[in-house]
Amino acid sequence: MPQTRKKLPNGVSKKDASAGQPASLLPGFEESCLPATADTVRHLTPGDHIPGLQKALLDWFAVHQRALPWRVSYTPYEVWISEVMLQQTQMERGVSYFLRWMQRFPDVATLAAAHEEDVLLLWEGLGYYSRARHILAAARKIMAEHGGVFPSDLASIRALPGVGPYTAGAIASIAFGEKLPCVDANVERVISRIFDVDSPVKQEPAAGVIHRWALKLVPEGKSREHNQAMMELGALVCRKKPLCGACPLAAFCISHHLGIADQRPVPGKRAVIKPVNAVTGVLRIGKNIFVQKRPPSGVWGNLWEFPGGRVEPGESPEQASVREFMEETGFEVRVTANYGVIRHGYTTYRLTLHCFGLELMNPCGGAEAEKYSEACPPPLQLTAAQQYKWTTPEELENLAMPAAHRKLADSLFNKPAATSDEPASATVRQARLTE
Ligand code: SF4
Repeated sequence: MPQTRKKLPNGVSKKDASAGQPASLLPGFEESCLPATADTVRHLTPGDHIPGLQKALLDWFAVHQRALPWRVSYTPYEVWISEVMLQQTQMERGVSYFLRWMQRFPDVATLAAAHEEDVLLLWEGLGYYSRARHILAAARKIMAEHGGVFPSDLASIRALPGVGPYTAGAIASIAFGEKLPCVDANVERVISRIFDVDSPVKQEPAAGVIHRWALKLVPEGKSREHNQAMMELGALVCRKKPLCGACPLAAFCISHHLGIADQRPVPGKRAVIKPVNAVTGVLRIGKNIFVQKRPPSGVWGNLWEFPGGRVEPGESPEQASVREFMEETGFEVRVTANYGVIRHGYTTYRLTLHCFGLELMNPCGGAEAEKYSEACPPPLQLTAAQQYKWTTPEELENLAMPAAHRKLADSLFNKPAATSDEPASATVRQARLTE
């Protein structure tokens, strides 16, 4: 039976207070820090402990920070690309994408002159392709409106395509030293634990309280180091399962002191992940493979795919594959092979993709004989795409594709399937995707 948390006058529950954890709070950081005024969020009064906390954090960061490629020169371009790339991406993978990107697009001017297809191809596997399109649009805007120089004021940074409040704050503080916080999921977790924020962190009042504390904690003239140190602490020490014994802020941390660090942050409602049952078909004539390019806007905008769609109620995946291909291209096809199922997680849905090999029916006869007389005929229509291509396995490698379709192509054409960071389960810097 759950125990009732009996409130002490300072707002700390008796159960929590008696949960006696190893660290003692610093002098002056005890009951006076925990006013009885807020039921949902307990506030600490700012005091002498903040400079101590800042110093402990910076000292720790100076010794324990990871050597990352964007921590060398801190150009705004590198800070920007790394911040956007790391959204929903594990660090190791982010580093390899970052290095590849900088080799191909070392500066804003090179990026701005690139073809979108090349940018999407380099982004392939990171997911959320609108981020890549926005980066390209922002680079072109910097060239057109700022003479190729990355703007340094917050308003101009914020006005770049795809740059929301988090990314703008990160660039302004880390690249230009502005006194602004960076509150990603890691920082949210650290602050909610230090200040024992006991309501869902993505909602008010907790979100506002966390942002105010995050700002208050930024030391004058040290925003670059401090913001990175907060994120680094969240990534390395104050993880989902906190390593409080190794934490430089343990003496300042209320949740740790109360023994409830594992109960912070308080989660909000979980997003419902819907299952999606879909099909796709690979139509081949000899060495040639039919692919189509999706419209510029919407899901997988401007990416190449094998035609397909959802399985309708009462329909088998095979039937759906034939129907979808017909609807999207006008080609009459039949199933020749079952390539199995690819499962892939996205933010709001989980895709089960049934994959089939297809061939044209009556390619050289029947009513459509004339239209099918070419070796690789054009589609009679394109209802879900802006462009089509008969391509080869080698050429396919140079087309940007959604992760599930790339997995299929790799499995068919003998390339080991790459892992992807698109699954919804990736939580690194998840908070930033609200931008
Ligand atoms: S003491 Fe524990 S809970 Fe508190 S900030 Fe450090 S790692 Fe996180």
